[in-house]
Amino acid sequence: MMQRTLFSRRSGLLVRQAAATALDGPPAQHLDRRSASGVTIPPPASMLRPLEAPLRYLFGPGPSNVPPRVLAAGAKPIIGHLHPEMYEIMNDIKKGIQYAFQTENNMTISMSGSGHAAMECAVFNTVEPGESVLVAINGIWGERVAEIAERMGANVHKLVKTPGNYFSNQEIEQAVEKHKPVLFFLTHGESSAGLCHPIDGIGDICRKHGCLFLVDTVASLGAAPIFMDQQNIDILYTGSQKALNAPPGTAPISFNDRACHKMFNRKTKPVSYLFDMTHLSNYWGCDGKPARMYHHTGPVSGFFALRESLAILAERGLEESWRKHKEVAAYLYKGLEDLGLKLFISEKDLRLPSVTTIAIPEGYDWREMLVYIMKNHQMEMTGGLGPSIGMVMRIGLMGYNCEKTNADMALNALADALKNCKKSKA
Ligand code: PMP
Repeated sequence: MMQRTLFSRRSGLLVRQAAATALDGPPAQHLDRRSASGVTIPPPASMLRPLEAPLRYLFGPGPSNVPPRVLAAGAKPIIGHLHPEMYEIMNDIKKGIQYAFQTENNMTISMSGSGHAAMECAVFNTVEPGESVLVAINGIWGERVAEIAERMGANVHKLVKTPGNYFSNQEIEQAVEKHKPVLFFLTHGESSAGLCHPIDGIGDICRKHGCLFLVDTVASLGAAPIFMDQQNIDILYTGSQKALNAPPGTAPISFNDRACHKMFNRKTKPVSYLFDMTHLSNYWGCDGKPARMYHHTGPVSGFFALRESLAILAERGLEESWRKHKEVAAYLYKGLEDLGLKLFISEKDLRLPSVTTIAIPEGYDWREMLVYIMKNHQMEMTGGLGPSIGMVMRIGLMGYNCEKTNADMALNALADALKNCKKSKA
């Protein structure tokens, strides 16, 4: 029997007593006697205070500030997740994603969950335990996908570079030939390093070797060009909270026919029920069946907001969105260099327009600078993530926030921090 510490409300004392757990067999008699006759846990004082969510400049790698129009869409009255109007909205979302991804794939949906849900959905559905997977790791996102694939029992091979570096098509082809993976993963916008990875030609390599090409565009969609069909990308996903400017919690994903063929001809069921594409494809009306069945309750308000953000992208146009991100990023680079800061990615064409990384200036503690900027400017910038921790500071200007006036504010805050956080002062 396991010892558990229970709080006795009558005596107000902490008492150690032997308590039965599910592992130990049937519950002990004395626990059975606790009657369910009244509330013993008072309402928490914090719940009796109004919700506080400060206005912040979200100039980090995401989430980004959400335009009022998208917030208003999310605040519309709830409708049922299986109402015909909701199906219409989901159909609109599907079309919006097809435009944003530049794909005609029928199997295009949004996950009820953040970018990680899309990562897991892609891997869980297209890979079976024991199959070979190749993951390009040049920052945290490859590490994450490798771990996700390992957890579901795949045979994971890693192609590794330090953050800020990229893989040549030749290196990728050699690794694909060697490991014969069923899936190759690459991050388009490596937000932990600020790198936008070249994509051209990689889809063809994967096709030649009978492997699926999975690309993460969580941090790059809407900010840098991506052409799912033309670039032969088999599975593509993104997140709602970056350049798309919807609240966090939904994640568009699309599978082409090659990916569908692999995932719908499995010997084993995917490890996740929630992320099983046989169910999700029906829920999103992609499986050709006349009726959509209940699978889970989708985030209705999140889908309203996602629809609005995709509508804004459609109205504005992809080319204009890419142009604007590039223009504002170039303006930011110049301002950063004028402050004496060094951009982490030296090759201009490899910089991710939505998230800019700077090398940590010598003589400064990056944490102190970030805290100073938050405290004095109500502005979020961040440090590195995973392998880039201690290497970079990250400034994100994406979607709604992608304006030169915001770049000026970010530069002003950095200049102030550079003036006031020099380590020798301490
Ligand atoms: N991939 C990339 C490139 C990202 O930047 C992020 C989020 N920072 C993710 C995946 C994970 O997305 P989420 O936090 O929405 O689960």
